[in-house]
Amino acid sequence: MNGPPLVEAREVSCTFTVSGGFMKRKRTLQAVNRVSLRIERGEVMALVGESGCGKTTLAKMMMGLIAPSEGSIEIDGRPLSSLDRMEVARSVQPIFQDPYSSLNPRRSIGSIVTQPLRVQRDPDPGTWKRRAQEMMELVGLPRRLFNQYPGQLSGGQRQRVAIARALVNRPRMVICDEPTSALDVSVQSQILNLMQDLRAELGLTYLLISHNLAAVEHMASRVAVMYLGRIVEEADTASLFDSPRHPYSQALLESVLTPDPTLGIPDTHLGVSYPDPLDVPPGCSFHPRCAKAMPDCAQRMPRRTELPDGAGVACHLHAGTHAARSAPPEGNRTARAQDG
Ligand code: SF4
Repeated sequence: MNGPPLVEAREVSCTFTVSGGFMKRKRTLQAVNRVSLRIERGEVMALVGESGCGKTTLAKMMMGLIAPSEGSIEIDGRPLSSLDRMEVARSVQPIFQDPYSSLNPRRSIGSIVTQPLRVQRDPDPGTWKRRAQEMMELVGLPRRLFNQYPGQLSGGQRQRVAIARALVNRPRMVICDEPTSALDVSVQSQILNLMQDLRAELGLTYLLISHNLAAVEHMASRVAVMYLGRIVEEADTASLFDSPRHPYSQALLESVLTPDPTLGIPDTHLGVSYPDPLDVPPGCSFHPRCAKAMPDCAQRMPRRTELPDGAGVACHLHAGTHAARSAPPEGNRTARAQDG
């Protein structure tokens, strides 16, 4: 692929200081820990993992909403730290989980969809209404809803409004954070299919954060699996779903069988609950829950190994087998090498 990736995170970390408990002791929460990730133009990269694993924090860093404590992020080859907020917003827009709380109930649909044009001081106000209505039609909303209010719309229609608002400025990338989890199951597939159609029609790139692994398999071209702030496996979607390498990925994919869709990933059948992110286990942080853990796993943190099919996995089980091929190939894969 030519040129720089649309978005590239290099060894980014994000730490927060939290206080609580006895004496309000201050502690450090490492929400994201030395993560490297490239998102190429036109692809759908999915981030999966249990709640609290750092997915949303990583996404917020890519939108410029949180500054990395360490590492760097580039958009189109330019450091995100050198771009002002408006420039970032023109390139990257979010679609949030809950269309009920993300839309101001006192604003009309037209006002909501044209809002990014106002905020960006678009130079052609005479076209705002037409462009907003065209975008509404593109996402399947009749123009007559322009003067109505969110409370008059169904959940699916509200999410279409949120999508129209995200796209009216024609961003290149959309970060979709659980875009369907607040919707009825019957509406979820309509929204996912709409997002696929829009991606093809507008040439969009998506970062999809989802507990819905069926949606991930349906939409994503690559998947990064996060655990306690690190990416433990990254692979093409088909490869990950056919033969997950990391024991945590294997446990996640078993959770697809969970009969209750609202349970999502947390029912991972791992026995031991998700560790306290303020008290990350040493060595491989997954070792207390891993059925394949070896004595060494509690001592040494696994480095990421690049596998011949383009996947990367951070697990001692794979480090030896593929050690000879674990050096990243030249050029663009260099940044993918990371710990854990
Ligand atoms: Fe399990 Fe060890 Fe691999 Fe961690 S490094 S996932 S504990 S086998």
